[in-house]
Amino acid sequence: MTAFICKACGTQYPPADEPPAGCRICDDERQFVPVSGQQWTTLGELRSRHRNSFEQHEPDLTAIETTPEFAIGQRAFLLRTGEGNFLWDCIALLDDATVELVRALGGLRGIAISHPHYYTTMLEWSAAFANAPIYLHAADQEWVMRRENAIEFWNGETKTLAPGVTLVRCGGHFPGGTVLHWANGADNRGVLLSGDILQVGPDGFVSFMYSYPNLIPLPPRAVKAVGAALRPFAFDRIYGAFSGRTIQANGTAKVAQSVERYVRAIEDQS
Ligand SMILES: [Zn+2]
Ligand SMILES: [Zn+2]
Repeated sequence: MTAFICKACGTQYPPADEPPAGCRICDDERQFVPVSGQQWTTLGELRSRHRNSFEQHEPDLTAIETTPEFAIGQRAFLLRTGEGNFLWDCIALLDDATVELVRALGGLRGIAISHPHYYTTMLEWSAAFANAPIYLHAADQEWVMRRENAIEFWNGETKTLAPGVTLVRCGGHFPGGTVLHWANGADNRGVLLSGDILQVGPDGFVSFMYSYPNLIPLPPRAVKAVGAALRPFAFDRIYGAFSGRTIQANGTAKVAQSVERYVRAIEDQS
């Protein structure tokens, strides 16, 4: 039996003799099935063709990315705290080098993921690190393709993982769309790990979409709700889902300005 992985989005399905008939994540209008058709791979095949690279962005925060890029191409982050380490978001490739390096840095106390596009092989990561709990917002549970005990659904608007490490439900792109606030990051000025719930753009502001690949926007109400969910939190730096997409300073103000310009752009002024 093989736990097949969708080549377009990186989602891993329950072990089976044959690949699934389709990928539910890619069949959803927020993603897409490539014109070349649905294709599958395995963790073994990924390990033979790809490697993970590590980039320390600041003390206690290291990005993990797969090269050459695979599927959506997002980055994950290893966040180290005095109360254990957390993996923020997830990538499909988990190999021996990654396991050994993360173990050497203290292993994982938990895994938190922004939304279903990055669930990927989360159960493989959990299993490799002493069945570390995986924290997912309950509002998105219909998108979990492999349900196992390691997954802990949380409800409500915030969840504290450790002192100064808080999951914040913003919604938007997905109803359970979550970001991670790290109060001690950026020399205690605060860090936001935003996944693509807030998509860091090349101009150093953020944007918000129901579907990024298919360019389906969100209504003003949903974008204002993201801004409101983050209002109680101070942060200077924002690390987005993709390599190089980082806002270095004034994060709180940049988010407020980004919400304002988005709403201005999409509201019918006539
Ligand atoms: Zn897929
Ligand atoms: Zn997404």
